[in-house]
Amino acid sequence: MPGPRGLGPSVPICRAALRDKLRSMRIRRSSSRRSKRPITQAPSSPHASPIHPPSGGTPAAIDPKQAAIILPAFVITMAAEALVLKNRPKRTFGDLDGATRDELSDPSLPADPLVPVGYETRDTVASLGMLAGNLVANAAVFGLTHRIDRWAYRHRVANLGSTRFGFTGAMMAWDFLYYWDHRWMHEVRLLWANHVSHHSSERYNLSTALRQPWSGILTHWVFLPMPLLGFTPAMTSKAGLYNLLYQYWVHTEAIDRLPAPVEAVMNTASHHRVHHGANPQYLDKNYAGIFIVWDKLFGTFEPEVRKVKYGLTKNIDTFNPMRIAYHEFADIARDIRAATGVRNKLGHIFGRPGWTPSGRRAGTGPVTVTTAD
Ligand SMILES: [Zn+2]
Repeated sequence: MPGPRGLGPSVPICRAALRDKLRSMRIRRSSSRRSKRPITQAPSSPHASPIHPPSGGTPAAIDPKQAAIILPAFVITMAAEALVLKNRPKRTFGDLDGATRDELSDPSLPADPLVPVGYETRDTVASLGMLAGNLVANAAVFGLTHRIDRWAYRHRVANLGSTRFGFTGAMMAWDFLYYWDHRWMHEVRLLWANHVSHHSSERYNLSTALRQPWSGILTHWVFLPMPLLGFTPAMTSKAGLYNLLYQYWVHTEAIDRLPAPVEAVMNTASHHRVHHGANPQYLDKNYAGIFIVWDKLFGTFEPEVRKVKYGLTKNIDTFNPMRIAYHEFADIARDIRAATGVRNKLGHIFGRPGWTPSGRRAGTGPVTVTTAD
């Protein structure tokens, strides 16, 4: 999700930027001598996201100016949201825990009014801790992902980024790839182990958007088509940043439904509340980043009707960031040790979350409606 620059430690970033700049100048010189192909060497990783490479990107570079705008903006908007919610009637936290499947899902019932759950200090602190860990984890793998991205761009098969509509194309391409990245993170347990942290809160507010995973490198490959198609790493990174920032505001209960034409095309707070729901009919739905049209095209769209029960099908009940980040990886390791035969061991890694050799559901989900409790 960001402009080629993320938020992170500044010294290594500056050196990397300088190195890239020099390399860029060398490439442009040699390019003008012997090649007609436009080459714009980018100063950063394609999928760089200062906060959450939704998918696996890494913070490519640090831009203090960008950080000076984004971080205070997070603080101000969260404070404003908390203030708005404070004056709204709120439902009791956990009041849906004992709800029946029908109460959570019955499509024949009229739509519920939006009644927020609100903020809770330990929950918000845990989310901010996850953001901090995300930045550190991404910085740690930056060298590797940066090399991969540059390698992909050097081996590009087209120059889509060089056209007049290059950046618009980059935004659309990222959003399309993000849909699949997000969907696969829900459908493959190893990838879900990374993404589950983002769904681990039983509340839903702007701080939930910052509850970012620590192993995004697992899906870094999903976005490699972008540099391979000729979107420069810088342009790709920028598309990722904008995509990420767009998704920040949809993590709120302060905004109800928007006008129908907007809800029809864009990912909105209403659509994304559904994505964070553990209600049976909300599982594995609404993967969109910016445009909800991908879910409509690929059959994963679900409108918000019933009150959303946020969190996992089986909540982990912790505010410890380490546990939030790695509990599913630990569970996978335990299941692999206990499984007999290669097929079963692989099933625990690459099967759907909740997959078991016997076919009975287990784990934190998400799983398909038909198998959810
Ligand atoms: Zn998700």
